[in-house]
Amino acid sequence: MQKILLYNYISRKKEIFTPLHKGWVGLYTCGPTVYNYQHIGNYRTYIYEDILRRTLEHAKLKVKHVMNITDVGHLASDADEGEDKLETGARREGKNVQEIVKFYTDAFVADTQKLNIKRPAVLTPATAHIKKQIALVKKLFEKGYAYDTSEAVYFDVSKFKGYEKFSRQKLSQTRTGAREEVIIHTQKRNPHDFVLWFKTVGRFERHIMHWPSPWGEGFPGWHLECSAISTNYLSQPFDIHTGGVDHIYPHHTNEIAQSEAVEGKQLARFFLEGEHLLVQGGKMAKSSGTMFTLRDLEEKGFNPSAFRYLVLTAHYRTKLNFTWESLAAAEQSLKRLKDFVLELKDASADAKDRNNTVRAESRTRLAKAVVEFEKAIFSDLDTPKALAVIWKLINEYRKSAEEKKLKIDPKAALMLIYNFDNILGLDLNKIKKEKIPVEIIALAEKRETYRKEKNWTEADKIREELAAKGWEIKDATKGMRIKKI
Ligand SMILES: [Zn+2]
Repeated sequence: MQKILLYNYISRKKEIFTPLHKGWVGLYTCGPTVYNYQHIGNYRTYIYEDILRRTLEHAKLKVKHVMNITDVGHLASDADEGEDKLETGARREGKNVQEIVKFYTDAFVADTQKLNIKRPAVLTPATAHIKKQIALVKKLFEKGYAYDTSEAVYFDVSKFKGYEKFSRQKLSQTRTGAREEVIIHTQKRNPHDFVLWFKTVGRFERHIMHWPSPWGEGFPGWHLECSAISTNYLSQPFDIHTGGVDHIYPHHTNEIAQSEAVEGKQLARFFLEGEHLLVQGGKMAKSSGTMFTLRDLEEKGFNPSAFRYLVLTAHYRTKLNFTWESLAAAEQSLKRLKDFVLELKDASADAKDRNNTVRAESRTRLAKAVVEFEKAIFSDLDTPKALAVIWKLINEYRKSAEEKKLKIDPKAALMLIYNFDNILGLDLNKIKKEKIPVEIIALAEKRETYRKEKNWTEADKIREELAAKGWEIKDATKGMRIKKI
């Protein structure tokens, strides 16, 4: 097995990954805020995280995967008046906050299933961990990092040495805590201090979800839940923390500050940050109608697996441009890949015993593909390269089949592709042959008779008739193959 290299955002370098504990990996991924459907940009992140998990599993490591569900206190936007996203969702849909949380959590889980994203071992809402979050704030007080005001409890960033280390941005150059600053916190000591505990006073007086705390009724700041949940299940430090580049500052920066201030040790050994998904060349935005959800894709007749394939065509640390054309192209490629799987299935069913020279040749070729595939995927999850290895194999197989000198054993190749697909997650082992209608089979057989009689004109006429009905006939060594166009 080759070494796993991951680009660690802490060092900004590819590093060899070895787990902290023998045989298992602690993986924390920041989860969704469940006030609406997730958009496809979110799903790009969840897909690369799923590839990471599957790659680690491929390397025979057990992965303990933990994800939070933000169901409280995530403030809406810069323009907002201190309202929680959940409450905005509830008002928009005439439901209560609990109903909104349940509805969109279920929708998220259903979407991830459609995208073949493995479910985390722990998928847990922030509201199930309020006590732990309060305990964290208490510890931050004990250690001198927190201070209380009449509006909120804050984390004092000037007390935490190395606050700028993760983002490598000078505080003076960063926007002041975008989410919270807008609420005009007049009592902050430093503009970059962030909220640990909101109090239900002033603008937050009518906030629906609140809990008692030593500092008064209120609700936790957004970053707190990830610090509390990750270390609760994975302890500190744990192996890998992931998210998207928009998490670097302030979210991951603040998670690190809180957790490391409390424990005096690293939060996670590796941080992975996935790049943005662009839509039609620009940043996704509600105002331009480009914040597509999986539903939008399905409404246009696309299968979610086409989106998964599209995501795999770009490395997770590069920007990926989503257009309807690029999605259609991805769908076509996936279809061709599936056709190849069916071809291999057919060929393995009627494979003759091959001689030893051919078998040895096939083994060598396939072993080479394994090395190349693993090299790609273990090199910071290079999915485009991994896909290229498969396409190379397909071309070689087809070429040798055409020349009637099959050098690659179809059954072994099929098993290999299934094995690769354990990482890619395209469900290639679930492909079933299309049910061919009786009338189509009858037509194809009629054509076969004409062919045997060398009546090419009639045979061609039937081929055209079949094409008009959406079916294609291929003449294989052993009889014919009928498939949908
Ligand atoms: Zn987080």
